Amino acid sequence: MRVEVLQPISYCFGVTKAIDAALKIKEEHPNNNVYFFGDLVHNKNVIDYFKDKGIEVRSFNEENAFDQLAKFFKEDIVIFSAHGHNKKYEDFLNKRGVKFFDTTCVKVKRILNLIETSDREIIYIGKRKHPETFASLSYSSHIYLYEYGSSFDFSKLKTDDPIVLNQSTLSFIELKQIFDDIQKTLPKATIYDEICGAARIRQENVLGLKDKFDLIVVVGDAKSSNTTKLFEISKKHNVNSTTIMVDNVEEIKKLDLSKFKSAVLTSGTSAPLVIIKQIEDYLRTL
Ligand code: SF4
Repeated sequence: MRVEVLQPISYCFGVTKAIDAALKIKEEHPNNNVYFFGDLVHNKNVIDYFKDKGIEVRSFNEENAFDQLAKFFKEDIVIFSAHGHNKKYEDFLNKRGVKFFDTTCVKVKRILNLIETSDREIIYIGKRKHPETFASLSYSSHIYLYEYGSSFDFSKLKTDDPIVLNQSTLSFIELKQIFDDIQKTLPKATIYDEICGAARIRQENVLGLKDKFDLIVVVGDAKSSNTTKLFEISKKHNVNSTTIMVDNVEEIKKLDLSKFKSAVLTSGTSAPLVIIKQIEDYLRTL
């Protein structure tokens, strides 16, 4: 099979930074139990890699976050994920004398900072269950979630000039539609398009494929927001190609790809290069 690989591929700068930081923290604390509070990044291969290095994930959700934090001991080391977190978690650990590290991506930090420093009402477009959304909503008392994929009740706003912000890894195409709808209802709203460039460029790249390949392979974990958006955009806009999403080479080996003569690979921003290379090498043998 003819195979090409789109660039950029594999980790974005935020994921690279978070992974490097976690490795360094573990190296510097060889005798402590080190935990991620939630997945460091949304990729099972990365999480398994760190499990082998001795870093476990302590999962949490909005309801049980403080109960989960209360289970850490003074000697433990906690690493907050690249997606951002509620600042009250830090206060809670500080009071208990538990050491923690923050790997929040700078792009997410920028959004959190805009939220924290705005005295205007804020409409935040995001996925309710995503950790970046939990974190963002915790940074202001006058922020309202515009749940991605559903409608928004504008009557809850007290002012007509809110600022509009979004989760960094949504689809830039769908987001444009939402921004247009908001602007029609609230012409005085100030819209900040906060889609991360690392996610946007991959979305633009799959749009540019224009059915040039029989098969489009998106490598990444279904938990990853930017990966699923990449997959959905490719599926919708490359209608004469087949788009699949796989997380590892074993998954793709189970599929019958005999009818395809050409393939192109792209990936979410937390897919390891080694996995992408294994998939590329396998496709070249077909
Ligand atoms: S996708 Fe963007 S926001 Fe998310 S970690 Fe990577 S650089 Fe940061």
